[in-house]
Amino acid sequence: VPDLKPLTPGLAAKFVSLAGPHGALTEATDIAPYNEEPRGLYRGASPLVLRPATVEQVSAILKLAHDERVAIVPQGGNTGLVGGQTPFGGEIILNLSRMNRIRDVDAAGNTLTVEAGATLAAVQDAAATAGRLFPLSLGSEGSCQIGGNIASNAGGVHVLRYGNMRDLVLGLEAVLPGGEVIHGLKRLRKDNTGYDLKSLLIGSEGTLAVITAATLKLFPRPADVATAFVGLPSLEAAGALFTRASEGAGPLLTAFELIPLAILDFVFRHLPQHRDPLAERHPWYALIEISSPLGDGVAERAALSILEAAMEAGTVADAAVAASETQAADFWRLREAIVESQKFEGGSIKHDVSVPVAAIPRFVREATAAVEALVPGARPVPFGHFGDGNIHFNVSQPARGDTAADKAAYLARWDEMQALVHGIVLRHGGSISAEHGIGRMKAAALAEIKSPAEMALLRGIKAAFDPRGVLNPGKVLASAAVK
Ligand SMILES: Cc1cc2nc3c(=O)[nH]c(=O)nc-3n(C[C@H](O)[C@H](O)[C@H](O)COP(=O)(O)OP(=O)(O)OC[C@H]3O[C@@H](n4cnc5c(N)ncnc54)[C@H](O)[C@@H]3O)c2cc1C
Repeated sequence: VPDLKPLTPGLAAKFVSLAGPHGALTEATDIAPYNEEPRGLYRGASPLVLRPATVEQVSAILKLAHDERVAIVPQGGNTGLVGGQTPFGGEIILNLSRMNRIRDVDAAGNTLTVEAGATLAAVQDAAATAGRLFPLSLGSEGSCQIGGNIASNAGGVHVLRYGNMRDLVLGLEAVLPGGEVIHGLKRLRKDNTGYDLKSLLIGSEGTLAVITAATLKLFPRPADVATAFVGLPSLEAAGALFTRASEGAGPLLTAFELIPLAILDFVFRHLPQHRDPLAERHPWYALIEISSPLGDGVAERAALSILEAAMEAGTVADAAVAASETQAADFWRLREAIVESQKFEGGSIKHDVSVPVAAIPRFVREATAAVEALVPGARPVPFGHFGDGNIHFNVSQPARGDTAADKAAYLARWDEMQALVHGIVLRHGGSISAEHGIGRMKAAALAEIKSPAEMALLRGIKAAFDPRGVLNPGKVLASAAVK
């Protein structure tokens, strides 16, 4: 970014002093884990990680960055999947982990106020201790942080019932690049006071402001949960079962996840601690959760009646309804294991996309045929949040190549395959980023799919918040040189 300046030793010392005691990492070995994201796809070369403990320190750091035109990359739990939290080169990393206090839990008002660096699991636990539910649930919940969840508008397995992170945030405290603090920790369900700055910051991926705290919505805890692992003869059957479950359970349907046989094979091959809940193999599976706060057995009755009717109609081949909380947890662990299992099968080209639910079978078939024609032997393993149209259309490299060179040659085709899959997604009226965001991975693709008018608005919003382009340059907007 032309107008930004490199970090000189003198400036670095000033930043270190602003971050307070224990607030900076300057040794290469300490910094290394912050410079790399977990999959090793992106690597930065930052010489400085700042870990402030207060909003005042964040404000002072951002003011200096703005005044001196030094680039800052906000970072939470470093679990993001589009490279948004990783510097391109020597940008300063501003990690929020030390700002992790739960500031307030208001069970009667169903709100919780928390600092950005608290993990999602810590927030779920604090809500549970107060007898409430915070429903966001992701495979990375032990490490990802509330600030990162908000900045990426995280989704997960309960969007169907409770919405994305955007639907769960009532108020935000955030610091602008000039150092000004926006004190917006409101607890209101209604607030129509002009343009919604909170909504702009949700999903802004660290490019507009640094989120330091949030007030979140809480819900009643489910007293009664039915979890079913279902074998399906086809993708169309998954669609028919989803329609039946939506009609039969209404708002009690809290999750509907799709799993292909190919990826279960990956799990059982590499992670043998997991067991197949069903006696026979099926081409597709659904993991369904129905839950109710009433505790009168209604969830299980609804699940059984939906599954019995679906079996009679031939859309369900077999099903196991968890008999205990332990068995339900095993079903969910199997669902989470499918993410880990892919790494044992070599390179994986990933597409986090969404299409209208009714279009999922056609999209999956077309995209499967297209990637198999592009790379003969490539192994698509589409899975994900079927109930909200979000498919992780991941494609593992051909089984026959197992050298590092084979993997590299396969991954070198990422952009080509991504363009192909995104083209099919767009033809079905879908989105090229369902829940992971744009980061640096999809910044070029974003510029291609948005109209010039939309891109001009996005750049205008960036310029209004961050006129010198110091916050997370090159993320979301490929050319971040905002003058
Ligand atoms: C196993 C696994 C499963 C996952 N499952 C899901 C899933 O189901 N649904 C889903 O949506 N995602 C999922 N993810 C992706 C990821 O966990 C989420 O995007 C998560 O919300 C990122 O949070 P984080 O704290 O790790 O953020 P980071 O990775 O640190 O940062 C993500 C983005 O937010 C910005 N950012 C971070 N903190 C702040 C802040 N305080 N202020 C401003 N900007 C900030 C960063 O600059 C970056 O652009 C998964 C990841 C893994 C590894």
